[in-house]
Amino acid sequence: MTIQLPSPLTLITPGWRHADTLDLYVKRDDLIHPVISGNKWRKLAPVLAGLPDSCTGMVSFGGGFSNHLHALGYACYCRGLAFTAIVRGDYRSQPTPMLQDLMTWGATIRYVTKTEYGLRESAAYLNELQHAFPSHIIIPEGGSQSAALNGIATMIEEILTPFTSLLVPVASGATLAGVASALGDTQQAIGIGVLKGEGYLESLVERLLPVPRSNWHVNHDFHFGGYAKRPAALREFCEAFSSECDIPVEPVYSGKLFYALKSLVENRYFAPGSTIVAVHTGGLQGSRKTVI
Ligand SMILES: *Cc1c(COP(=O)(O)O)cnc(C)c1O
Repeated sequence: MTIQLPSPLTLITPGWRHADTLDLYVKRDDLIHPVISGNKWRKLAPVLAGLPDSCTGMVSFGGGFSNHLHALGYACYCRGLAFTAIVRGDYRSQPTPMLQDLMTWGATIRYVTKTEYGLRESAAYLNELQHAFPSHIIIPEGGSQSAALNGIATMIEEILTPFTSLLVPVASGATLAGVASALGDTQQAIGIGVLKGEGYLESLVERLLPVPRSNWHVNHDFHFGGYAKRPAALREFCEAFSSECDIPVEPVYSGKLFYALKSLVENRYFAPGSTIVAVHTGGLQGSRKTVI
């Protein structure tokens, strides 16, 4: 498994109104690995680095298109660890490309009802699971645990160009929490909510932050109706952006992030002369139609 670090920091010069008054960079975490999605790698790296010898496998949770399950399944496969994916919904008759990859990598897939999936953070359920899978490590949905914040901090440390604001997509909030922890007080972390979650997304970030920070907020204007919703305007933007800037984006995470960036730039949200970094967190599972 070859991981490319540091990931590149690429200057982009899109033809958007007012873009020429700013320095716009993209932190290309999508290039860390062809299979493992960027921020999922960042979040898992500290866990994988600290695995006890007694660990024989991992268990985790996600949906049928989960970048996290995909990344963890691949990491386990490469290290000869057993992997059990607890998947929300029943895809047995029509497994997604992501699930087909997991099967290729020898994972065990357990399809569960929404109700059982809803127990994924309950202490009693996790206890039972730990008994059923002794010597396994149970990783929360999205790989979002406090150790994940340290992995996100390494992404910030790689950025040697001074910047004023940094944008990341927000789903479980761990990436934004990691960024807010690592940035200085005068730098601004902007999370772009990829699902409808006013108040909820903020509470996730707050729960993960070891100490409260005031350098971050979540913008809720660009979820396009909800998680994985992809109206035509968003799909068209993804195509236009991918070809203009030569950076592939998909509609679930990075498409919404760059759409938000464009809108904020055009509406003069950033002071002229500012340097902005948008983090391409990778993850093309949401737009995949084929099996690797
Ligand atoms: C999971 C994921 C996110 C969301 O990150 P959180 O830490 O869960 O908020 C963003 N981008 C991509 C590509 C992802 O796979």
